[in-house]
Amino acid sequence: MADFGGSQPGEFEGEVKAWLAENYPGELRAPSPITDPNAIWGGRAFAGSDDPQIRWMRAMAARGWTAPTWPTEYGGGGLGAEEAQILEQALISGGYRRPLASFGLWMLGPVLLEYATPAQKRAHLPGIVAGDIRWCQGYSEPGAGSDLAALRTRCEDAGDHWLINGQKVWTSYADQADWCFCLVRTDTAKKHEGISFVLIDMTTPGVETHPIRLISGESPFCETFFTDVKIPKDNLIGRVGGGWEIAKRLLQYERQNISGGFGAGGGAGGLAGDLGAIAARYIGVDATGALADGDLRGRITRNKMDTQALHLTIARLAAEARTGNGPNAATSIIKYAAATLAQERSELMIEAMGSQGLGWAGDGFKPDERLAARGWLRSKGNSIEGGTSEVNLNVVAKRVLGLPDLVPGA
Ligand SMILES: Cc1cc2nc3c(=O)[nH]c(=O)nc-3n(C[C@H](O)[C@H](O)[C@H](O)COP(=O)(O)OP(=O)(O)OC[C@H]3O[C@@H](n4cnc5c(N)ncnc54)[C@H](O)[C@@H]3O)c2cc1C
Repeated sequence: MADFGGSQPGEFEGEVKAWLAENYPGELRAPSPITDPNAIWGGRAFAGSDDPQIRWMRAMAARGWTAPTWPTEYGGGGLGAEEAQILEQALISGGYRRPLASFGLWMLGPVLLEYATPAQKRAHLPGIVAGDIRWCQGYSEPGAGSDLAALRTRCEDAGDHWLINGQKVWTSYADQADWCFCLVRTDTAKKHEGISFVLIDMTTPGVETHPIRLISGESPFCETFFTDVKIPKDNLIGRVGGGWEIAKRLLQYERQNISGGFGAGGGAGGLAGDLGAIAARYIGVDATGALADGDLRGRITRNKMDTQALHLTIARLAAEARTGNGPNAATSIIKYAAATLAQERSELMIEAMGSQGLGWAGDGFKPDERLAARGWLRSKGNSIEGGTSEVNLNVVAKRVLGLPDLVPGA
């Protein structure tokens, strides 16, 4: 049920638009605004920063609009589904930047709202809304990726605290995160029921991160080591041994959120903007103004139509999730489709740009051309992160279509 705080939908939209226009930092409207690319992730590193992106985040957070539908008692906006939709549309149509990108907003917060105690919610949700704390995700381990429940990081009851020992891998931005939400093993005798969900402050003694350097020269993720790390008893969410249910729920939120970020230059990197227009710059147009290569034109059109259909589906599912019980296993469908389309877009872009799409460095390539091959390589990860495409198809087969296991008991 929408709650417009006593005003009508049209009035609310007018108020939102006026507020956004008044509070958006002028510097962010410049074609190339000078802002730290990391600022959008907030966190302790930006406490006291005057970066325009951080000012924008703070202004939005003060209204709870970084987490529009979360309850006001935890710093959220307290908006109904319809109001949140109006706010989102106003942000998109006005060309405003996203105020905050955050694993806390997309993944952790929603499960804390479902599973945490009131005290745990008060301790962690306001920091997420404000962008004060940057979170990372400690799920994967060497030997526990798709078979996540094989994880071995130990969490032992040491009386007045938990003691953690083990290793995570592919922990995105662990070296820049303030806290980590983490899956640990509290019982070695049981597989799924032996897993618990804990929160770890990355400044705790015994936490170490080693960035993994990729072929592109970037280090977007880390190996994370825990050696005799002591965490308070209060940092375990839900019940001891109840972490698997929370882990799966969080993955649904993750799949719903990352799917929207793939493609169109987002997530996959590469050149942002309309693929047809980019291709026309390199291939030229015919007498009617259409892309000169008819075959490529057809494939680009198909990718754009499918991407548009996907974005509409994501918007519909997000609206349904806001009014119902949150996301469900169907998020695996959109994660699979989003990864496939983003990779296809990268391939089409490289094809259209010809040799200019293969540039890495040097004067023969414009700065944005040097991003194309990097984006193409980055897009390879789209079908792995957040669960591989094969694993997502398995989820669709079992949980959405209700098909039986091919190998009984597998
Ligand atoms: C860009 C990126 C960011 C990431 N960020 C994080 C992060 O922040 N935190 C984190 O915890 N993890 C992160 N990951 C790790 C990611 O979740 C894992 O890589 C992923 O779950 C796959 O696990 P794996 O790499 O061990 O591959 P494996 O599980 O070893 O899979 C290898 C291959 O076997 C296939 N396969 C495995 N099991 C099956 C099956 N049952 N049926 C069919 N095929 C199967 C897979 O599809 C894959 O092709 C990230 C990964 C990437 C690429």
